[in-house]
Amino acid sequence: MYKIDETIIKLVKGDITKIEVDAIVNAANNTLLGGGGVDGAIHRRGGSEILEQCKKIGGCPTGEARITTAGKMPSKYVIHTVGPIYRGGKNREEELLYNAYYNSLLLAKEYNLKTIAFPSISTGAYGYPIDSASDIAIKAVLDFIEKESFIEKIAFVLFNDSDYRIYENKLNKLGLEG
Ligand code: ADP
Repeated sequence: MYKIDETIIKLVKGDITKIEVDAIVNAANNTLLGGGGVDGAIHRRGGSEILEQCKKIGGCPTGEARITTAGKMPSKYVIHTVGPIYRGGKNREEELLYNAYYNSLLLAKEYNLKTIAFPSISTGAYGYPIDSASDIAIKAVLDFIEKESFIEKIAFVLFNDSDYRIYENKLNKLGLEG
């Protein structure tokens, strides 16, 4: 657990669909109609209500975010965001990944949500190297806390040990241990 201002940053190892927060974030694709990885798991666990709402929303540009119910999952909402597909790093990937995190947090703020959990956006099928992706994720979160310090808890939910250790090392180095 880490603390910055009034916000707790937590690392969790495991499955984001089992986490109980106000909103879990989905690493979706532009169609919002479901896919593999974390997206597939969220739609499977949450049930058809999520897909129905996603169909009405009608898609989401890369770097933006949309919100639906979390259906049968323990959380209240799913914030669907679309990270960039990594194509070498010179196609605005950094900016788009940053925006995916930041815009998810802004949407949480708009809905007055206090606790949010992120998966590692873009680092699965979309191929973003975890080392730089985690730097961007942490920077977006810290920037948000600095500017909008309303949120109580932000969790990074990492699906595998090595991703977890990368985040742990980076947060430890920032001296945020609480
Ligand atoms: P993207 O297409 O944005 O790369 P993926 O879902 O392919 O999204 O992968 C993003 C990350 O989510 C990967 O690190 C993957 O291991 C992880 N992941 C897959 N399933 C889950 C889950 N149920 N909970 C949390 N993380 C998950």
